[in-house]
Amino acid sequence: MKAALLSSHGGNDVLSVGTLPDPVPGPGEVLVRVSAAALNRLDLFVRNGIPGVPIAFPHVPGADGCGRVEALGAGVKGLAAGDRVVLQPGLSCGSCEFCRDGERCLCVGYEILGEHRAGTLAERIVVPRENVWKAPAHLTDEEAAAFPLAAMTAWRMLVTRAKLRPGESVLIHGVGGGVSTYALQIARLAGAALVVVTSGSEEKLARALELGADVALDYRSVDVGKKVRELTGKRGVDVVVDSVGAATWRASLAAAAKKGRIVTCGATSGPNPEEEIRVIFWKQLSILGSTMGTDAEFGAVLGAVERRQVVPVVDEAFALADVRDAYSRLESGAGFGKLVVRIPG
Ligand code: ZN
Repeated sequence: MKAALLSSHGGNDVLSVGTLPDPVPGPGEVLVRVSAAALNRLDLFVRNGIPGVPIAFPHVPGADGCGRVEALGAGVKGLAAGDRVVLQPGLSCGSCEFCRDGERCLCVGYEILGEHRAGTLAERIVVPRENVWKAPAHLTDEEAAAFPLAAMTAWRMLVTRAKLRPGESVLIHGVGGGVSTYALQIARLAGAALVVVTSGSEEKLARALELGADVALDYRSVDVGKKVRELTGKRGVDVVVDSVGAATWRASLAAAAKKGRIVTCGATSGPNPEEEIRVIFWKQLSILGSTMGTDAEFGAVLGAVERRQVVPVVDEAFALADVRDAYSRLESGAGFGKLVVRIPG
């Protein structure tokens, strides 16, 4: 089969399209013929190399995918060849204390497609049965590939971890990225009374207003923490969604209301911000970590997509042969929404 392959860690020159033997589903596994895959920040981290995560090369990246069931391993029930499906990108052991508690994404042996095992940027992929979900019928393959990881992550952040309630206010940094774009939609769906987003791009701010943001702040010209306090009568917002890290952390602390919750799922600008601990205790803030999601959260966000309450946002779709261009656009940060790679055949 054709696949995007990393030959080692490095820049885009380690990425090419090559061939691998077709995978074969074992007991409890499903072989999916992938038609569209989507990129995440994770794919850049995997290409660059993540300390403590050893990778066997050649490696197939990609955590998000849509395709059709091609074959079922022994014992698989509830699916048939030809079913159009999307993949829950997280894999778990099923037997540790967290898995037994329904918290797959806290599994002590947690794995992600395209990071710890072969990913979706290939004509075929084998995954456990529990990772396979029916794709929403009204979406194109490209749209269906564009929501699983980012929308599930945003759902867990806002709904499960921050426990956003109707009438509350939210600040979301860096709109246009996958997680923040879904966080905007999920905050609206959860009944937030005020959703403020930030970006350094006029175009992205305009798109965010179309998607339902109340206020869109250009962080190049505005002190975000100060402006959010002004907008809220000096109170601040109940919830801050911060996946940017070093560049936004002080603004997050400044923008949070007393007893506010700051939820983080990443640090694309750097993992070690200056932390003003006095602000954390004085305001009695909760700093919440979050990553990926459970099957319950995936099911909830899939339902919201099916009801068209959450809309997949595709920035651009690329041919598999142009996968390097897709990575370049991801790395540039220029896009609004997800970058999709079409898998031919
Ligand atoms: Zn486990």
